[in-house]
Amino acid sequence: MKRIMRKQNNICGNYGTAIHRDFVPLFVDDYYAHMFGYDNAAQVMALPSLLTLFCEHDRQQALQNYAAIMAGKMRPKVAGYQNRDRFGQLCSVISIDHLCQWQGAPALQITLIDVSQQVAAKQALQQSEQRYRSLVESSLQGILVHRFFKPLYGNQALADLVGFSHVEPLLALPSLLALIPEDNQQQAIELHERLLLGEMESHSVVTEYLRQDGDSVWLNISESLVSWEGEPAVQSVMMDVTQLHRQQQRLEFQANHDVLTGLMNRRSMNQVLVTEFAMSKRSDNPLCCLILDIDDFKQINDQYGHAIGDDVLRMFAIESLKVLRDGDFLARWGGEEFLLLLPNTAQSSAMLIAQRVRQHLEQSPITVNGQHHFWSVSIGLAMLTENDASPESLIVRADSALYIAKQRGKNQVALAPQFYQL
Ligand code: GH3
Ligand code: MG
Ligand code: MG
Repeated sequence: MKRIMRKQNNICGNYGTAIHRDFVPLFVDDYYAHMFGYDNAAQVMALPSLLTLFCEHDRQQALQNYAAIMAGKMRPKVAGYQNRDRFGQLCSVISIDHLCQWQGAPALQITLIDVSQQVAAKQALQQSEQRYRSLVESSLQGILVHRFFKPLYGNQALADLVGFSHVEPLLALPSLLALIPEDNQQQAIELHERLLLGEMESHSVVTEYLRQDGDSVWLNISESLVSWEGEPAVQSVMMDVTQLHRQQQRLEFQANHDVLTGLMNRRSMNQVLVTEFAMSKRSDNPLCCLILDIDDFKQINDQYGHAIGDDVLRMFAIESLKVLRDGDFLARWGGEEFLLLLPNTAQSSAMLIAQRVRQHLEQSPITVNGQHHFWSVSIGLAMLTENDASPESLIVRADSALYIAKQRGKNQVALAPQFYQL
């Protein structure tokens, strides 16, 4: 019980005082006694010399210091010691010597401050930092600690990921934002602030980083809040997922595009149709749908072969895109049929675009054995009306307009009949 009490005193970081002359105790307080494993001051006062409290190898030095201080040859000093109490337990102390008067004659006052707790905490911190560093340095994942994108710590794997030969020049960067593409910087800053503000404990994101060699790398980054040298900071664990990302992009592209022409396929056009249909209904902005069908395509196949037919399909895509605008959607809808969706476009503008495409294609012959073969398209155009309850109804009307264009002799644009009724 008493030992526990004593320990508690130590933990409180108490200090104890003793006054001695030639190490004969003149005054001792209980705290001083506790630091050496005694229950109270009286027990220490009963000792013939305080030297018996000191570790043997410190005694000679203590005697010399005492003599020098009392002779005025040395200023009283402050020193750190490892003290051993009478049970053999070590504690770290700071000892402050102070010349004083005791009952009319000079004496030396010793104040001992127990700093065991601080020393132990510092050691524990050093050990844990050392453990952290050795773990991090051997990690195959890039590890970075930063605060407001100022790098504080990083490992070699991180340097490798972003194309630095060593980690030092990376850590010398004033801001890591230089490695993040401009478009992603705002999002990165927001996530960082939310972590530092404690709004979330951690997060994970797959994002692009810029390498020193001009390439880019896709990283899976898991970030969490840590304490770095006593201040909040963010630890990022980074894994290279470039290959996986590119593979996913390839698969996604394949799922949404036509292999032959590279245009959107029917599946992804159906999604665009649903979105644009809803948007147009909501905003009342005009939406036009065109179906383009290559004229006498069967003949091209029959005359030149399927491979040339394929070339014409590819050529259709390349040449049409040349005369279309950025926001227009062109998809391969079926064999030699294409669907063109023009958001925010009224019927008159859509008609001009349709004619422009038709005329451009009419003047884009395919060369077979040095001979030009001219080909053309027929186009059916329908503008979304309030009677269209679904994208399908718009497509059906564009299709019937296409039928009219074919009926009238091909290589022309026809409007869906409902336009005349409105
Ligand atoms: P129309 O002017 O009335 O549209 O006549 P058309 O010959 O263009 O139309 P039809 O529907 O009779 O023939 C379309 C042909 O397109 C039949 C089909 O073999 C061919 N086709 C469909 N897909 C492909 C393809 O991927 N490559 C090639 N080379 N031909 C294709
Ligand atoms: Mg057809
Ligand atoms: Mg055709």
